[in-house]
Amino acid sequence: MNPIYDVAILGCGEAGIFAAYELAHHRPGLKVLALDQGRDIYHRSCPIVAGKVRECIHCSVCDTMCGFGGAGAFSDGKFNFTTQFGGWLTDFMEPRHVMELIDYVDSINVAHGATQEVFSTESAEARALARKALGFDLHLLQARCKHLGTENNLRILQNIYEGLKDKLEFRFNTAVEHIVQDGEGGFRLTLGGGEEVACKRLIAAPGRSGAEWFSEQCKGLGLELLNNQVDIGVRVELPASVFEHITDVVYESKLVYRTQQYGDQVRTFCMNPYGHVVAENVEGINTVNGHSYADPKLRSENTNFALLVSNRFTQPFNEPYRYGKHIASLSNMLAGGVLVQRFGDLVKGVRTNEHRLSKSFTRPTLTAAVPGDLSLALPKRQLDDIIEMIYVLDKIAPGTANHDTLLYGAEVKFYSARLQLSEELETAIPNFFAAGDGAGVTRGLAQAGASGVQAARAILKRLS
Ligand SMILES: Cc1cc2nc3c(=O)[nH]c(=O)nc-3n(C[C@H](O)[C@H](O)[C@H](O)COP(=O)(O)OP(=O)(O)OC[C@H]3O[C@@H](n4cnc5c(N)ncnc54)[C@H](O)[C@@H]3O)c2cc1C
Repeated sequence: MNPIYDVAILGCGEAGIFAAYELAHHRPGLKVLALDQGRDIYHRSCPIVAGKVRECIHCSVCDTMCGFGGAGAFSDGKFNFTTQFGGWLTDFMEPRHVMELIDYVDSINVAHGATQEVFSTESAEARALARKALGFDLHLLQARCKHLGTENNLRILQNIYEGLKDKLEFRFNTAVEHIVQDGEGGFRLTLGGGEEVACKRLIAAPGRSGAEWFSEQCKGLGLELLNNQVDIGVRVELPASVFEHITDVVYESKLVYRTQQYGDQVRTFCMNPYGHVVAENVEGINTVNGHSYADPKLRSENTNFALLVSNRFTQPFNEPYRYGKHIASLSNMLAGGVLVQRFGDLVKGVRTNEHRLSKSFTRPTLTAAVPGDLSLALPKRQLDDIIEMIYVLDKIAPGTANHDTLLYGAEVKFYSARLQLSEELETAIPNFFAAGDGAGVTRGLAQAGASGVQAARAILKRLS
């Protein structure tokens, strides 16, 4: 018979890992079980990356998103020291406290091999850049940022795993199928295959990949959830030299703009200097993303970043997830996967075909993307917003609106339904904590890690 665990952690992404770290280091004798439907950090391998297939074959558990390290394992590892984006933890606690948690997570990363180099928006050059951007109504969000790099990120995770694996019990390839209250203040988790495990306290950190499943579990447990946003856009790819004067100073520039035509908010997101555009599978739909390596030998000649338009729904329609999936599936339908178009072709109203793409000075790093016409997939409003933003960006980074700038679609950022949580990130059910992207409270590595620490500390406080 399985023991009753003091704490079970559902999900070994950034939030789950830092919760596990905090518990293991401050209460070595505690019986902690960490579960993930994906594999350990050494055995995660996407068949596309391994060169076995060209297109996503929709594995039942996606190795890119799931397993030790979660969605962040193969990410570029941009670690943002800010409360301005990357999550909403300040809705639950003081900004200063969130920053302390983020610094703490960083210190653990550093102890496991992360770089000490920090890009800052507070330098004189960054302030000059922000001033110039403001002249065109572009607002540069303030943040310090570290670039861990895709390859270093993996190494840091491996080091953390090695330090943790003998201090608590990890179970990989183990999906939690149901969460039920046991009637005695604890929980029973039903695992794939019907096995049950019992725990006194639960930290649920299922990430984006487990968000829909988790919402259903929460509804079943009588917990309220709120969800009204989806971000839709494209990934822009251009020669790195166009943005070099910006990326050399702040690395990741988060520029926000309100369009004149519709008054919609458009922002740059996930900037990857000298990076690569990649396809991403979000529950069966191909969307786009990007990453870049810290090692100069692994760099490309291009920079890529997302341009996203935020959409919020009220009455009568409130299914942002379905809306976003529908738009992404339209570009999948047209291209059989990710679609790519030259900016010049888009504004002229012509489809980019193989011939036109072959003439492009900007070479696509995602070679599997199929040339096509984004105007057949994205709604007019979002497309107009994106075109307006590209012309505005061209004023601070001349060359952005060049004919050969490549636009990949669709990039869709889904938001997990948000749970009502206390300052300690506890749900309305005592001893049931929720952290990270799957709880709808974070959107990035720094705040996800911070949320895991916060939940673990709440448990430690009660045990002391
Ligand atoms: C391609 C990509 C690049 C990114 N780049 C950056 C970046 O540069 N900087 C940044 O700040 N953020 C980045 N992000 C976002 C960042 O990765 C996430 O914000 C972060 O990983 C969230 O951590 P999490 O622990 O909440 O969830 P996740 O990392 O998603 O982990 C959740 C884990 O829970 C597991 N799980 C889910 N459901 C179940 C279940 N029922 N049973 C068992 N296990 C389950 C999953 O398998 C997964 O391993 C990127 C994301 C992607 C996809």
